Amino acid sequence: MSRPPARHRKSSLVVLGGGETARAPGVVHLVGAGPGDPDLLTIRAFNAIRAADVIVHDGLVSDEILDLALTKTRRINVAKRKSRHTLPQDDINQLLVALALEGLTVVRLKGGDPFLFGRGGEELAACREAGVVCHVVPGITAALAASAGAGAPLTHRGSAQAVTFVTGHAAHGDPDLDWASLARPNQTVIVYMGVSTAGLIAERLTAAGRAPSTPALIVENASRVDERRILTTLAGLAIAAEGLKGPALLMVGEAMAMADVALATSDLTVSNPLFERSSRS
Ligand code: SAH
Repeated sequence: MSRPPARHRKSSLVVLGGGETARAPGVVHLVGAGPGDPDLLTIRAFNAIRAADVIVHDGLVSDEILDLALTKTRRINVAKRKSRHTLPQDDINQLLVALALEGLTVVRLKGGDPFLFGRGGEELAACREAGVVCHVVPGITAALAASAGAGAPLTHRGSAQAVTFVTGHAAHGDPDLDWASLARPNQTVIVYMGVSTAGLIAERLTAAGRAPSTPALIVENASRVDERRILTTLAGLAIAAEGLKGPALLMVGEAMAMADVALATSDLTVSNPLFERSSRS
């Protein structure tokens, strides 16, 4: 387990025809860091972090996870550059490509899963266009951790036959969603990035026919020590979402009635031999 998989290892020099040497191109790993708790990293993500020359991460990745990297690994926080503004996506794409072309093993570490509202597709496309090899390591998306933590299944026989992940982010006014389809009963709707549009989302769902009494769960900081759960209804969603500071999900659907809002730290998170062995070196 301590040895990274073959594709994480690289030879740094290539001998060209005339005895001239050049750096071998590096590689980009688009890695899902999960929702925050290091226990929810995959072993593949962990190995990639340990094998990285440089980690390019955003604000959703917890310090505990970043601290799993070797001390020699360079860290670049793309959420805090330019006086706390996030680096524009094009600049991030170019940065990943440039670092890989320097011959480095680059880990682009993203909260949750890189392909779920993570703009991982754009980064993969940029790598492909530049001829840089890019591997994707899936991560546990926030909704799975929130649902597991609360004991509220996303699908449930008799009350949730489908689950849909949507974004509540709206560039101009309304999030562009199919309200009629999301308003049908017996399905779970998970809204990412929906805290600021919670009122609008509840209004649209209700107007399209979803019952105001439909259970709604809000989970803030899922899997982290400061996790918070609020169980309400569609009618109470807007008020319940007021004042949330951390990343949060709105989870609407009949099965959310099963949510346990009491918080209990799982014994599993207390001690994990995998991470004890991996102290920074
Ligand atoms: N790729 C990420 C999602 C990034 S979009 C994933 O798969 O989880 C950012 C949104 O994700 C936040 O606005 C919030 O809605 C949600 N989110 C991310 N981490 C979260 C967490 N620990 N708890 C609750 N919501 C979270």
